[in-house]
Amino acid sequence: MNIVLIGPPGAGKGTQGRFLIKNHNYDGIITGEILRKMSGDGTELGDQIKDIIDAGNLVPDEMIDSMMTDHLANIEVNGAGLVFDGYPRTLAQAQTLDGLTTIDKAIYLKVNEEEIVKRILKRGQISGRADDQDESIIRTRMETYRTDTEPVLDHYKGQDKLVEIDGTKSIKDIYAEILSAIGS
Ligand code: ADP
Repeated sequence: MNIVLIGPPGAGKGTQGRFLIKNHNYDGIITGEILRKMSGDGTELGDQIKDIIDAGNLVPDEMIDSMMTDHLANIEVNGAGLVFDGYPRTLAQAQTLDGLTTIDKAIYLKVNEEEIVKRILKRGQISGRADDQDESIIRTRMETYRTDTEPVLDHYKGQDKLVEIDGTKSIKDIYAEILSAIGS
């Protein structure tokens, strides 16, 4: 079973993804983590990625698509399946992913903007991430989410794979809803 986690930044995708990886034997593909690793590697590409992330913009589709194509070609899946966190974030990425593997469920964690801004500013105090510490950058990311990522919800709805969960519930309740959605 391959699962996509979708929702605005700070919706709790990472938290829930980690549970699936730790407790239910999923392999995780976390684009933000892969990109942050690249952004600190001292190369020109790394510097470009860092500037894009720090400004709250999306890394171009072509770059993400080639990165994910490589990643999926090299990954060995022995466990319960793959859980994607932070990908796909655009309709074009969702279409590319459809050509790379089968997605069984898209879990949408719905959280309103004011709650998101609060959560991310709090996370920024701990994570030290530049893009988590500035309210205007967080609002830019929300705007990008609305224009670029929300269409991905319709993509999976049209395929009858979308499961909407209230992301303001407790972490435990959300996890229980995810498990029931994936039949575990
Ligand atoms: P969050 O979910 O809080 O936004 P992430 O760690 O998932 O945090 O992503 C951080 C940043 O990395 C994004 O704001 C974006 O710049 C970049 N990024 C992550 N995934 C993608 C993607 N699939 N396409 C384009 N850019 C991405």
